[in-house]
Amino acid sequence: MTDRPRLLAVAVPVPVHRTFDYLPPPTAAKPAQPGQRVRVPFGRSTRIGVITAVHNRPAAMPERLRAACEILDEAPLVPDDLRELLLFAARYYQHPVGEVFASALPGGLRTGGTAVAHRRVYRPAARLPDKTELASQLARAPLQAELMRRILAAPAGLGAEVLADAGRDFRRALRALEGRGLVEPIEQPVNDEPLAPGGQPKPGPPLNESQQAAARAILARPGFACHLLDGITGSGKTEVYLACMEQVIACGRQALVLVPEIALTPQLLARFRSRLGTAVVELHSGLADGERLRNWAAARDGRASVVIGTRSAVFAPLAAPGLLVVDEEHDASYKQHEGFRYSARDLAVWRGRQHGLPVVLGSATPSLESLENCRSGRYGRLVLPARAGGASSPRVRLVDLRSERQHGGLSLALREAMHRHLAADGQVLLYLNRRGFAPVLLCPGCGWVAGCRRCDSRMVVHHARGRLVCHHCGNEAALVQHCPECSGPLKPMGQGTERLEQVLAEEFPDWPAERIDRDTTRRRGELDRRLARVRSAEARILVGTQMVSKGHDFPRVTLVGVLDTDQGLFGTDFRSSERLAQALVQVAGRAGRADRPGEVLVQTCFPNHPLLHTLLASGYGRFAELALEERRAAGWPPSSSLCLLRAEARDRTATFGFLAQARTAANQPAGISLLGPAPAQMERRSGLYRGQLLLRAAERTTLQQFLPAWRDRLESLVGARRVRWSLDVDPLELA
Ligand code: ADP
Ligand code: ZN
Ligand code: ZN
Repeated sequence: MTDRPRLLAVAVPVPVHRTFDYLPPPTAAKPAQPGQRVRVPFGRSTRIGVITAVHNRPAAMPERLRAACEILDEAPLVPDDLRELLLFAARYYQHPVGEVFASALPGGLRTGGTAVAHRRVYRPAARLPDKTELASQLARAPLQAELMRRILAAPAGLGAEVLADAGRDFRRALRALEGRGLVEPIEQPVNDEPLAPGGQPKPGPPLNESQQAAARAILARPGFACHLLDGITGSGKTEVYLACMEQVIACGRQALVLVPEIALTPQLLARFRSRLGTAVVELHSGLADGERLRNWAAARDGRASVVIGTRSAVFAPLAAPGLLVVDEEHDASYKQHEGFRYSARDLAVWRGRQHGLPVVLGSATPSLESLENCRSGRYGRLVLPARAGGASSPRVRLVDLRSERQHGGLSLALREAMHRHLAADGQVLLYLNRRGFAPVLLCPGCGWVAGCRRCDSRMVVHHARGRLVCHHCGNEAALVQHCPECSGPLKPMGQGTERLEQVLAEEFPDWPAERIDRDTTRRRGELDRRLARVRSAEARILVGTQMVSKGHDFPRVTLVGVLDTDQGLFGTDFRSSERLAQALVQVAGRAGRADRPGEVLVQTCFPNHPLLHTLLASGYGRFAELALEERRAAGWPPSSSLCLLRAEARDRTATFGFLAQARTAANQPAGISLLGPAPAQMERRSGLYRGQLLLRAAERTTLQQFLPAWRDRLESLVGARRVRWSLDVDPLELA
C-alpha cells in the first residue's frame, strides 16, 4: 500500500551533512523527479535545492514535514549520472551534500534562474521619433548616433560585444539611448543558438610510432580503463588526445578535457577547434555567468562535442560522454584547497569507471600516486620517450653558487649564457618563484626583521608600490626606511621577481624584459598581453614565477635559468621533493622546441643534493622510483591514505583543546594512526592559531568507514563551537 505521501529528499545548500525531506508542493501538477531544482522553506526563509531522490520511507518526524514551495524545472536539470557523482563526492570528501550540489551548478542556476541562458541585446524601441527628429536629438552625441545607426540596421537586436568597437564610452552611450527611450534592452534566449562554427577540420601531423601505440591502447577496448600518458614536454601528448577525440567524436560521443589553469584554455580551445572542426566549449570561473550557463547547457544537451575546463569542469553534465582527459595530471590545482576539497583528477577517474570509459591522465612529471597505480596494474602506462617532430631535449647543468660569484641573483655562468643566447636571437626565461622585490627587510645593525603582525611570517618588500606586504594574509604596511628599534638604515635581502626585473633593466638594457607573476597580471587581459609579447619575441627576457612553468608554449625560448632552486630542497612536507622535481622538470621543458635546441642552468648552493643529482643524471622517472621507495618506507601516500583535520581560532587553547577532544573522540580506531595534534607549519596566520590532527591508514576504505561517524561526533564536541574546523580527505598539503 502506498497511500503514504511520496517524499522529496532535497540537497539544500546549508552546512549540514544530509538531505532534507519535503512533501511535494501542493500545487504540483506532475510528480517530482530526482534532479529537478526545488524551492523549499528553510527556517524562516526559502532555499533552492536539488531533489536527490523521491521516496516513501517514513519520515523521522512526520508532523514536522513541510511542503516544498515549487518545482523549478520542467525536466530534471541534473542528470542521473551527475547526481550520482555528486552524492559520491559529498560522501567521499565529507562535505555537506547541498553545498556540493550548489557548487556544481553555474551561478545563475544556483539562484533559481532558468536553465535557458539569456543574452542581453539592444533593439530599437517600438516607437521612434521620425528621422529628422531623431537626428536632431542625437546631433550633439555622435557616439549615441553611431550606436543608434547600428541598432536600427539590426532590428533583431545587437549584443554589447559587437557595439564595443564604436567607442570607449559605448556602455554609457547605450544607457543614454535607453534613457531617451530610443532603444530597449531585451533578454534573448541563447540556448539554441548554434555554437561557434566548426569549419573544415585540419589534419594534424602524422603520429609517430609511440603516439600511435598510445592512441591505439586508449581506444583499444571498450569499458573503463585509466591510462597514464607519460611523455616529456613537447613529446606530442596533445596530439594523442586529439587523435582519440577524433575517434570519439566520430562515434557521436563527447570528450571532457581538464587543464590546470584558465590561462591555458584559449590556446587549447583554438587548437582543438581548428583541428576537430566541431563545437568546443570552455567551462571555468573566468567566464561571465551567461556564457558559462550557455556552455554548461551545450555540454548537457550534447551540442558541444568537446568541453575544456579547469577543476570544476569535472562536474560538467555530458549527454554522451566518450572520453575523459586530465592534462598535467600532477598539478596541485586539481585539488580544491578550501571548502569542498575535492580532487578533480580523482573524480574524473571515478566518472570514467561510472560510465565505462577510457580516462587519459597526461603529464611530463606524473604524480607518485599515478605512477604507483601503474606499478600495481590499476592504470596502464603509455610512454612518449622523445620530443615529437625531431626536436631535441635541452641540456641541463648545475651552477654551483658556492664557487660562482653572483650579483643581483645572476651568477656569472648564467649571465654569460644569457648573452650568448640573446646574441644568437634566442629568448631567455628566468624562473624565480618569489614575487615582490625582496622577501626580507632586515636591519643589519640590530637584526630586526619586518614581520607580519597577524602571521608568523615576514613582510615582503614591494618596492614599486612602496609597501610591505604579507603574502599569507594580505596585510600591508608602509615601506619604512629606518629600523623601528635602532633607527639604523634597513636593507632588503634576497631576490624577488620585481628586483630581478630591475637588475635586468640595469644590466641587460638592450633586451626588453617581461615579468609575469600575480602582481603584474592582476588586471584582466594583462596575462594574455604579456604572453603575446613573449610569443612575438617583442620581449627577449621573460621573468616569471610558477605561472610560466605550466603548459605555456614559448617556441623561441632557448635558455632557461632557475634562480632559487634551494627554496624547495629542504621543505618540511613529505611532498616537497616531488613538487620541486616537478617544477624543475616543467620549467626546463620550456627550453628549446622544434628546431632550436635548449639549454637549462640551475643555480644552487647544494649541487650534491641527491634530488638534483638523480634528476640530472637519470631523469624524473628514476627520481620518482626512489621517491616512491622512500614513501613506502615511511608509510606516506601512495602507500597509505590520509585525512587531515584542521582547526583554527583566535585563542590558541581553543584550537588545541578542540583537537585534543577530537583525538579522544576518535577512540583509537582500528587500522588508523592518529598523528598530532600539532601546530600548523605557520602556526599563526591572519591572527588565527592553526593546528591539525592527521589520520593515516594503510587502506583508503578503513578511513572512509571511520570518517562519517567521527565527523558527527566532532560536530557535537563542546570545543567545536570555539573553532573553525574542516576535514581534508587526501590532502595535498600538510601545512
Ligand atoms: P605536449 O602536449 O606533449 O607538450 P604537443 O602535442 O603539444 O606536445 O606537441 C608539441 C609540438 O610537436 C607541437 O607543435 C606539435 O604540433 C608537434 N608534434 C606533435 N606530434 C607530432 C608529430 N607526430 N610529428 C610532428 N610534429 C608533432
Ligand atoms: Zn635596527
Ligand atoms: Zn600576514
